[in-house]
Amino acid sequence: MNPLFEQRLGTSIFETMSLAAARHGAINLGQGFPDFGWPEPLLDEAARLLREGSNQYAPSRGLPVLREAVCGFYADRQGLSLAPDQIVVTSGATEAIAATIMAAIEEGDEAIIVAPAYDAYAPLIRQSGGEVREVALRPPEWRLTEEALEAAVTPRTTMLVLNNPHNPTGRLFAAEELAAVATVARAHDLLILADEVWEEVLLTADRFTSMASLAPERTIKIGSAGKIFSLTGWKIGWLAAPAALATTIARAHQYLTFATPPNLQAAVATGLGRPEWLESARADFRRAQRRLADGLQANGWALLPSEATYFQCIDLPRSGMKLRDHQFADFAVGTLKVATIPLSGFYERAPEYGLVRLCFAKSDATIDAAIAAFGRTDALAQEILDTAVKQGVIDDLPWS
Ligand code: GLN
Repeated sequence: MNPLFEQRLGTSIFETMSLAAARHGAINLGQGFPDFGWPEPLLDEAARLLREGSNQYAPSRGLPVLREAVCGFYADRQGLSLAPDQIVVTSGATEAIAATIMAAIEEGDEAIIVAPAYDAYAPLIRQSGGEVREVALRPPEWRLTEEALEAAVTPRTTMLVLNNPHNPTGRLFAAEELAAVATVARAHDLLILADEVWEEVLLTADRFTSMASLAPERTIKIGSAGKIFSLTGWKIGWLAAPAALATTIARAHQYLTFATPPNLQAAVATGLGRPEWLESARADFRRAQRRLADGLQANGWALLPSEATYFQCIDLPRSGMKLRDHQFADFAVGTLKVATIPLSGFYERAPEYGLVRLCFAKSDATIDAAIAAFGRTDALAQEILDTAVKQGVIDDLPWS
């Protein structure tokens, strides 16, 4: 085995925490998947298509009916003007990201990522021979500035990866931050890989502004039916890009998965034509976020704002927890029986060690059980300290 490969590619934190949750019988608020929110008629349609539709290879770029539906959906919801030859359907958004990076990044190119960054970007960039430049956002504002982006650009930079709404922070970037991305990308002729899979999971806003509306000539917009319809296991994703670029990326997709299940594609096409199916889910996610946040805050937990995505971050130092994020996550899954995601692993350098991410897209019963398991911060802070000291795992923390 190539040792570099082993060194670069560890087990993802999402898989690690889901396995740990299963091992400990813990409530899984780690990996981001919902336990409600999908439109039941969409499942019926998919079941019907499994029997009555095609079960053979779809065209590699995706079913025409789905590519048209993606264009119609974005025209209605984001005011985008896209044609089907700009769309490539992939096996999940992660494959769209991989195909884009594989097609666009060459040996020696640099790509900018915004940390805390989704865990797939950096390894994919490196596997393509590229180098990663990190722009690190800091809590609690997580603000992205033109100066920070500009400072990360070198003559070798060819791509900027922007995830908006942003996982794991739950931020929805403001208009001036998006404008800064467009300005810097134009000034240096960069492609923008716009991972917008959370575009429909909005908690504080009703409309989403896509990078594809601000810099259409250089944006590869990534979307996900799994996120839009709360069906993360379906792994139907897509990208939308200028037509010539879409064709190049489609060539990379040919050699990754080639094509994606046709019956699920056809079902998603139907779903995208029924935006009313999405309304109740959005209201339910907002309710779930408030339920988790209210319950935790009532017990003394300090939270960061959550504007979008399925995620809510806890501020550990301000909650009185004298543990680093990964130590807290280990303690939480093993002892409290709640799986979380520590944020420090989403930085290349100078990580934030004070935050864990919780997925709130769960039934009331699951949320209430998690709140009860976390308990009051004052009692827990002491218990954690005692346990950590006993196990000898406590670090010399800046806030301890
Ligand atoms: N997007 C999901 C999350 O952030 C994880 C997807 C995965 O497990 N790779 O939790």
